[in-house]
Amino acid sequence: MRQTFKGIGASPGLAIAPAFIWKTEEAYIPQESRVEDREAEASRFQAAVDQARVDLEAIRKSTEEKLGADKAEIFEGHLLILEDPDLIDAILENVRETGINAEFALHETSQSFIRMLEEMDDELLRERAVDIKDVSGRIMRHLRGVAGSDLSAMPDECVLVAEDLTPSDTAQLDLNKVRGFITEVGSRTSHSAIMARSLDVPAIVGAGVGLRSIQPGTLVVMDATEGVLLAEPAAEELTAYREKKTAYDRRKAELALWKDKETLSSDGRHVELAANIGKLEDVQKALDNGAEAIGLFRTEFLYMGRTELPTEEEQYNSYKFVLEKMDGKPVVIRTLDIGGDKELPYLNLPKESNPFLGQRALRLCLERPDLFRTQLRALLRASRYGNLKIMFPMIAIVEEFLEAKRILEEEKRKLLAEGVEVAEGIEVGMMIEVPAAAVSADLFAKEVDFFSIGTNDLIQYTMAADRMNETVAYLYQPCHPSVLRLIRMVIEAANREGKWVGMCGEMAGDQTAIPILLGLGLHEFSMSAGSILPARELIGRLSHEEWRGFSREAMSLTRQDAIQQYVREHTLGGQPA
Ligand code: PEP
Ligand code: MG
Repeated sequence: MRQTFKGIGASPGLAIAPAFIWKTEEAYIPQESRVEDREAEASRFQAAVDQARVDLEAIRKSTEEKLGADKAEIFEGHLLILEDPDLIDAILENVRETGINAEFALHETSQSFIRMLEEMDDELLRERAVDIKDVSGRIMRHLRGVAGSDLSAMPDECVLVAEDLTPSDTAQLDLNKVRGFITEVGSRTSHSAIMARSLDVPAIVGAGVGLRSIQPGTLVVMDATEGVLLAEPAAEELTAYREKKTAYDRRKAELALWKDKETLSSDGRHVELAANIGKLEDVQKALDNGAEAIGLFRTEFLYMGRTELPTEEEQYNSYKFVLEKMDGKPVVIRTLDIGGDKELPYLNLPKESNPFLGQRALRLCLERPDLFRTQLRALLRASRYGNLKIMFPMIAIVEEFLEAKRILEEEKRKLLAEGVEVAEGIEVGMMIEVPAAAVSADLFAKEVDFFSIGTNDLIQYTMAADRMNETVAYLYQPCHPSVLRLIRMVIEAANREGKWVGMCGEMAGDQTAIPILLGLGLHEFSMSAGSILPARELIGRLSHEEWRGFSREAMSLTRQDAIQQYVREHTLGGQPA
């Protein structure tokens, strides 16, 4: 029977293959019993823990080789769980004191940990529940003598259907066999989803318990880009998906050819394509997608998912990591942008009735010099490890920029006086997110080293349309003439002062906006890593003269739909971007 399942597209791509249904050992619920020899039972448990350690060390090593040290860190965490006295010693104690069987003791103790962690608000703690499930499942398999049988029955070609995949399951997938996977649970940011993207395996997560009705061996087609799986598709659907898959694979292969190329127009003009990152693991992805720079590091993510502020040392290590990994390529690090939709509960900030118009980002930093100075010191100390540029967010008036820069200079002087090395000539720029700053860009251009246009906010403030409110989404128009005029104003003001202008809002990766922005003279485009290669290919197809034609035409039209239609017709043959 034909069935459709919908989930979250966690890693893009298409797959067509028979379903392999995989039931995890975690679903096994042991019976409670009493043992005669308590000491022998404790030793049996300890042996299973030791075998799990051997497994994990091997997985850690192979993951490091296949995916890099940052991905292998998950398994360092798993190894630490094996040392956790609250878990492991507590189970040993329980076995010794009560004579309960090791399987049941493991199940009870790990489940109580998992339940407690799953109820936490903190995402990191919830992730830890996943790790404990993974590790306790591994110990359980060794206790039951079924370790190693896990995925061994997998046919040569399949789509894996599972309730859940732990990070270690994902790392161990045999990519010669698995064409894709779909799970009942999970989110886009779960570790298995992140690993699927790194492994480049199509993956859908969070598709629900309905998946249990798929019979083993059923032919399925999955379009992980759309988050859809069809079981037993009709003949015409199968043909359509085969064609779609061929086109997708061809496109992917074509785009891969652009990875190590410079970003040039067809007549040789260069623009810079950079990546936006939020977490340290995003740097590798940026490089894998041919990023020439990091155009925006949203540092607030370093402050989230925890219960206290990151220390200067932690921040220094993070910034140093990114700078070193980018190996001399530009890295624009934005100072803390908290407020609006990004909250830090542990700061206990007063509730505001209009948080997007409230004490956000630099406004908060200027009010809380303790926060700001710690971050600036960490940045300055890390500066000698690469090509750092510092950027301040949410500036409306010149005084804010000057005050931020004064504090930065002061911290630099202090560090130098302490004998700490700081890089020479660090560029200091600002985001253009507030219409007031765009309109007075000529005043700012005299003070800054660069601008980066944050269209996500600039559009919402220009159109007075909340970026998160679906009911006013029709007003949220990147290519509205008002927005395009502001962008032009900013670029012209910067050019007059010989300063460069980038863009790090979503608009920078939008295929219908890129040709116009090129024509307006934008120097740097910073976007999510996955948008870089399509952008490089688009830019390379057009000449500099054509860029100018797009901006001229766009600036003469009055409606966004007409502007977008014009660009599509002249770049994509009228196809939606
Ligand atoms: C922007 O506003 O365009 C931007 C890049 O910042 P954020 O999305 O983090 O607000
Ligand atoms: Mg913003």
